[in-house]
Amino acid sequence: MIGAGYVGLVSAACFSEFGWDVTCVEKDASKLDKLNGGEIPIYEPGLDVLVEKNVRSGRLRFTSELAEVAREADLIFLAVGTPMRRGDGYADLSYVYQAVEEIAPHLTGFTVITTKSTVPVGTSREIERRMRRLRPDADFAICSNPEFLREGSAIQDFMHPDRVLVGVDDNRAREVLDRLYEPLRLRSAPVMFVSRESAELAKYAANAFLAMKISFINEISDLCEEVGANVQQVASAIGSDRRIGDKFLHPGPGYGGSCFPKDVSALARTAREARSPLTLVEQVEKVNNERKIAMAHRVIRALGGDVAGKTVAVLGVTFKQNTDDMRDAPSLVILPMLQERGATVRVYDPQGRHQAEPLLPGLVWCQSVLEAAEGAAAAVVLTEWNEFRAVSLPALREKMSGDVLVDLRNIYRADLARDAGFAYTSVGRPDKP
Ligand code: NAD
Repeated sequence: MIGAGYVGLVSAACFSEFGWDVTCVEKDASKLDKLNGGEIPIYEPGLDVLVEKNVRSGRLRFTSELAEVAREADLIFLAVGTPMRRGDGYADLSYVYQAVEEIAPHLTGFTVITTKSTVPVGTSREIERRMRRLRPDADFAICSNPEFLREGSAIQDFMHPDRVLVGVDDNRAREVLDRLYEPLRLRSAPVMFVSRESAELAKYAANAFLAMKISFINEISDLCEEVGANVQQVASAIGSDRRIGDKFLHPGPGYGGSCFPKDVSALARTAREARSPLTLVEQVEKVNNERKIAMAHRVIRALGGDVAGKTVAVLGVTFKQNTDDMRDAPSLVILPMLQERGATVRVYDPQGRHQAEPLLPGLVWCQSVLEAAEGAAAAVVLTEWNEFRAVSLPALREKMSGDVLVDLRNIYRADLARDAGFAYTSVGRPDKP
């Protein structure tokens, strides 16, 4: 497994749990030191136990030495990052191609090389072309096996996937991948073999569709506010139609994270280049960018149109609960807008501080919700962490100097918030219950 990030580490731990011998190759020395010292460099529920168990059994190892691993491996996964390329919004494939160059000199015997990273359609073909050039003598097959796990429930998702998608056009490689996923197939997870192009494109299409669903409900939620409807009622009414489904119909401050923003952008770019523009997907990107800015204005409005000299308590900075991942989190847009207008921002996040601190300078970091609330004119819920749901609203109000509560995740009941003395705003729900 090349890359021990969110996807590589979870996949490696789960494959070793199936009984396979897995070696993770990680370039980042500090991550590698942590892993070899028994520490998990990221926050992902349950991962520490799974990694420890499989390291102890001898089936899971971590190294920076690629050569020996590449020589011995039957199957090499590329699980390196494919971030958004600066300037044109396309996927930056430099880590992928770098890994291909590093692997190439060491291949021996028949080796299956599979992208787990999300890569634009056509990348397998391009990897194949490069590998042929580097090693005309080598026996290998390039496949695509995009990953659909979600951070925060990654192990559960990996172990109980809705489907496993394998893009392959080589029969020997297909057999290897079929064997690899046998433990999941036996648990009745569908393993779908498709062309490499279909697998690559399906991953982007899935993410773009989910991002579109979020943007759709965000816009419906704005409309609800204008016309006196309740978005939760609308969402559950439409979500119970199986053609629509009830997932991803929660309005909020805009989607973020390491996948949706970059994948929506890369897909739009791919489509434009293929002269088959995805106008709908391009609009999703626009709607989401505007959403984050609109949410900052909502906070400013709730504070009477001016935040200068005021203290705002922010609950949560990660893009969703149960992760420490800060990549493209809406907080990265919303909090600087408040700071620029002169607000002091006090923040508490159960796991996000480590990654967020360098990205969001000038915040006052706190150890708890109540500490963040001290002296604040307004409290803003940005992430739906469970521990925020359990907060005593009267105790929160007590700590604050003002009474504004802006709940961008709809985690509180409007009547209880009002009983606690708050001027409460949420998203897409009428002022009066
Ligand atoms: P990440 O940044 O957490 O991990 C990538 C790791 O690869 C890093 O630790 C980096 O140091 C390492 N690396 C890079 N080049 C290397 C090399 N040549 N040799 C060894 N290690 C190297 O990224 P991630 O979130 O795990 O995402 C990886 C891929 O999976 C991306 O394409 C992403 O789009 C996709 N994906 C991510 C998720 C998710 O929820 N994070 C879900 C599905 C798919």
